Amino acid sequence: MTFPRYCADCDQSIVGEAEVAVEGFSASGARGDTYRHVAGDPACTGRPAGRSVVSRALDAKAAESVSRFRGA
Ligand SMILES: [Zn+2]
Repeated sequence: MTFPRYCADCDQSIVGEAEVAVEGFSASGARGDTYRHVAGDPACTGRPAGRSVVSRALDAKAAESVSRFRGA
């Protein structure tokens, strides 16, 4: 199954290797994983300007969700 993946950091489509930023929680796939470019990927242009506050808030929330999901 292939589908477009978009980087959570730079909003660009990911052509090559991607890492999972936030795992989806739906077994049906209705809510898929969130991807980002792998660290150091030159294709990643970083976060668009002006979204830093929102992005940080989302990152904090996502990190909290993932750690809770994994029981860490
Ligand atoms: Zn990226």
